[in-house]
Amino acid sequence: MNILFVSSEVAPLAKTGGLADVCGALPLELARLGHQVAVIMPAYRQVKQGNFALEPLNVKFDIPIGNKIVRGRLLKTTLPGSSPENEVPVFFVEQDEYFDRPELYRAKGEDYKDNCERFVFFCRGALESIRLLKLDVDVVHCHDWQTGLIPAYLNLEYLHAAGYENIATLLTIHNLAYQGIFWHWDMLLTGLDWKYFNLHQMEFYGKLNLLKTGIVFAECLTTVSERYAQEIQTDPLGCGLEGVLAQRSEVLSGVVNGVDYSIWNPAIDPHIAKQYDVSNWQEGKAACKAALQREMGLPERSDVPLIALVGRLADQKGWDLVAQVMRRWVHDASAQWVILGTGEPHYHQMLEELSRSFRDKVAVSLQFSDPLAHRIEAGADMFLMPSRYEPCGLNQLYSLKYGAVPVVRATGGLADTVIDANHAHLSQGVATGFSFESYDVDALASALGRASMMYHHEPENWKKVVECGMKQDWSWGASAREYVSLYADAIRRKR
Ligand code: ADP
Repeated sequence: MNILFVSSEVAPLAKTGGLADVCGALPLELARLGHQVAVIMPAYRQVKQGNFALEPLNVKFDIPIGNKIVRGRLLKTTLPGSSPENEVPVFFVEQDEYFDRPELYRAKGEDYKDNCERFVFFCRGALESIRLLKLDVDVVHCHDWQTGLIPAYLNLEYLHAAGYENIATLLTIHNLAYQGIFWHWDMLLTGLDWKYFNLHQMEFYGKLNLLKTGIVFAECLTTVSERYAQEIQTDPLGCGLEGVLAQRSEVLSGVVNGVDYSIWNPAIDPHIAKQYDVSNWQEGKAACKAALQREMGLPERSDVPLIALVGRLADQKGWDLVAQVMRRWVHDASAQWVILGTGEPHYHQMLEELSRSFRDKVAVSLQFSDPLAHRIEAGADMFLMPSRYEPCGLNQLYSLKYGAVPVVRATGGLADTVIDANHAHLSQGVATGFSFESYDVDALASALGRASMMYHHEPENWKKVVECGMKQDWSWGASAREYVSLYADAIRRKR
């Protein structure tokens, strides 16, 4: 199959979130399975200033944007991690006024005013590249609102264009909270007829919605977990698009993201104090825990559980519950807390206050540090993720591998990947963590209480849960095969 990824982020070339990880790893896995894969993304400043060998191609194109004509050209590199026999080329749409900027989407806390224009240009540029590069394409895998116009252009403007008639699209929604909503006059920039600006197609409460556009026009849709695919068909997680999604439920499925175990694996992790696997995790974790306690300035204690959190400091992740449960727990429960995150200033303040008040129990690091994230996974006994919603979530998958027992709210990908250690699951030998349903502090406290009870008083059960988690396989192979069958479905529907 000839598969073209069009994405606004691809790790390690340019990244703000999990979208980039998927678009950096999945193409490699598909190529390994024997498919022809290419990737198109914008030539951001991050890409140009990174250490990547970029080859300028002698390919230029002129794109109409409103009443302007904007020129772009293409650069090329090979996706890092490609093997010589299955190379994945990456083409960059270069247009410096749009993409040579300090950040990808925003500056000083505000979205760039011309984001719609930038991604109209990107989508049109990507489609023109197919012709100019003579790419064979059976299916375009689109990602998030930035590429939402591609299914519309293919089905409206390119439907009878030679070489484009049969190209199908699959759109993956990584997080429905980001929809690419713009004022209605930006419709002029898209070049599409106003007749499509209606309730059933591109319009959303008087505005232009690019994700909705993609949802309406793509042949197939996916989200990054089965549970999230269900959740977004109802309020509130549908974020206003639940009706449109429910209408397309026949073509909407969930495929969970994979983990790159060449990076996230305690047996080979260069960042941690002692490498370990499922056969010697107790020694390994004890060494990593002591090292983490020293690094974070906590008392070196092996007798209390170390509870960790790593993530964006955003409402989505449930930090309000974390603060409440910590205020309850730090007094009467024996536990230590290690927190790594950056994000909204009020959460920075809240966490700083907590660590000041409970110095011997709470250590906080307000930065983005990948190596520290690895050391935390290796040193922690429990990993807490009380998210309001979680399309997939990667940290719980890393935690499973590192034997940091996940304690999660049963939502989205967390519900699909963590099996609660209740009596039934324990006796079946399938339990991998602790989960709770309702988004409130009592439910969270009760799950943490169960985890803590087992940690202190049922070491044999604890060992079972840790080891069952460490043996899970969440690598990309299975998910890549699911995508292949969905691409085939998309192609069937187009033809
Ligand atoms: P999301 O994409 O919603 O942010 P995920 O759990 O899917 O959440 O992925 C988050 C990724 O970013 C994980 O790899 C996590 O380790 C990493 N991460 C988030 N915040 C930090 C931080 N402050 N330092 C290091 N890594 C972080």
